[in-house]
Amino acid sequence: MENKIILEAKNIVKEFNGVPALSDGNLVCRSGKITGLLGANGSGKSTISKCITGVYHKNSGTITYLGKDVNFKNPMDAKKAGIAMAFQNLSLLPDLTVWQNIVMGFEKKKGFFLDDSNAKHTAAKILEDFVPGFDYSRKVSELSPSEMQIVEVAKAISQEPKMLILDEPTAALEQSQVEILFKYMRMLADRGVGMVFTSHRMWEVMDICDDIIVFKNGEVVGRLDFDKDEKDADVIIQMITGEKKI
Ligand code: ADP
Ligand code: MG
Repeated sequence: MENKIILEAKNIVKEFNGVPALSDGNLVCRSGKITGLLGANGSGKSTISKCITGVYHKNSGTITYLGKDVNFKNPMDAKKAGIAMAFQNLSLLPDLTVWQNIVMGFEKKKGFFLDDSNAKHTAAKILEDFVPGFDYSRKVSELSPSEMQIVEVAKAISQEPKMLILDEPTAALEQSQVEILFKYMRMLADRGVGMVFTSHRMWEVMDICDDIIVFKNGEVVGRLDFDKDEKDADVIIQMITGEKKI
């Protein structure tokens, strides 16, 4: 499979009240590849993802998606264009049911970007795989933390994106659930979806990702492409802690 570049973010700067959260954010997402973002807490991983999906508006830098410069106004615009994100802090509305959350924002009209019956079907299959007998009529506020996380991920995947950003999707999951998620991720990659995956567990990133980008203090300090580079945990730790720049 040809792994075309889907999205490229270059030299992204994002400041909050004059303080840079991201001073040089860079990321390339390729069709069929899972790109891992690594870096200490506060290094800018969520910020670059949110700049891409229009949650935050970058101060400078460029984002090219499918060959065109883009500046999404909000996550809905990004979603319509085919970029879905599962948020670290979850984007679910607690007083709505699982179903309502899954189909929220979907146009009913078929042929627009996705009709909600399709989304429901996809989401149902995912939820059932993670939790057999999952009850979709429950309010999100009644779910356990791991169930909420699964719904957040199922919501993003059900949008059938070309690019999927999963920001710390495993934080509340058990090991067996992480394995189910990884199977989904690989299946989507095999269908040509490009993915960005963030986790603070380095072994997860080493396990599932095809390449990694390491952030430190708001900038990229290292990259490894496992097609060419060795999967060496020591090298990755050195990049995260800043002892090594590649
Ligand atoms: P990571 O995801 O790598 O843990 P973040 O991207 O969340 O890091 O944060 C990077 C930096 O930006 C941190 O110093 C954080 O405090 C700051 N930051 C992120 N979001 C905001 C915000 N909405 N307002 C102010 N500062 C923020
Ligand atoms: Mg984060």
